Amino acid sequence: MPKITNKKKINHAMFVDIQRTMNSHISREEGGYYLSATEIICPPQQVWLKIRHDDEIEVDASDCIDLWIGTCCHDHIHESAKATGYPGDSEKRFKVEICGKIISGGMDDILDEEISDYKITKAYSAGMVSTQAKWESQLNIYKYMAEENGYDIKKLSIWPVLKDFKPWEKGKPIIKKGVQLGKFLEKQCARLPIPIWDRNFTKTWLERRVQRFMAAEEVSDLMLSKVFPCGRCTDKFADEGLWEGRRCVDYCMASGFCHQYAKRLGKKVKG
Ligand code: SF4
Repeated sequence: MPKITNKKKINHAMFVDIQRTMNSHISREEGGYYLSATEIICPPQQVWLKIRHDDEIEVDASDCIDLWIGTCCHDHIHESAKATGYPGDSEKRFKVEICGKIISGGMDDILDEEISDYKITKAYSAGMVSTQAKWESQLNIYKYMAEENGYDIKKLSIWPVLKDFKPWEKGKPIIKKGVQLGKFLEKQCARLPIPIWDRNFTKTWLERRVQRFMAAEEVSDLMLSKVFPCGRCTDKFADEGLWEGRRCVDYCMASGFCHQYAKRLGKKVKG
């Protein structure tokens, strides 16, 4: 489990809660699974480095705020569902076997043959086509898992909760360097319907992803950077991009152990 520090000296009560929240995730060993549904979408290099170096990673609480806010919202909704006798399944976890490996996925909500997932996110990110493609794969994995566990699923939905929603931006194109990357959503929180994949397509896609992770698991940290570098995979439903370098700088706990990133900085990985 990563060590959560408080070098930036945020409020102590908040720090304690962030620490507790960050340490509350079920580990692979406890959960008895190979990978989670959300990991399957990410770059194998990032996922394996994080798993291999989990106990060596140090992250400051001030860098966990987005994750903390998201977890708090999810927990709060779940607590309310439990307290009020909500008729759906809140925070339901399923497992499925793919290529002999157990994949685990936690669904936020299942009600009336519909899986819903909450995303506490930024308006820019939610509006991007690439983000929505990633959500599409995640939700279709969930559908596959739920069906394998006896559920009938007819609808998939994302409920984005936009932390920085600005009414004057709604519906406007998101443009970067002259290229349209998507458009801002119309509301701060509204259902985003997710296209449903053909079941065989989902199964084959999942098998391909698991096989990619199995191959990556066999190689050293150094070879991960050469054979499975982040940013090279062209699968539009996976999210292996570097996001113009932001992924390494702001969203990767494993960056201190990554040879690809060290090379970009002209450094070497310590140890
Ligand atoms: S530091 Fe960057 S390149 Fe290295 S694993 Fe993390 S996201 Fe990938």
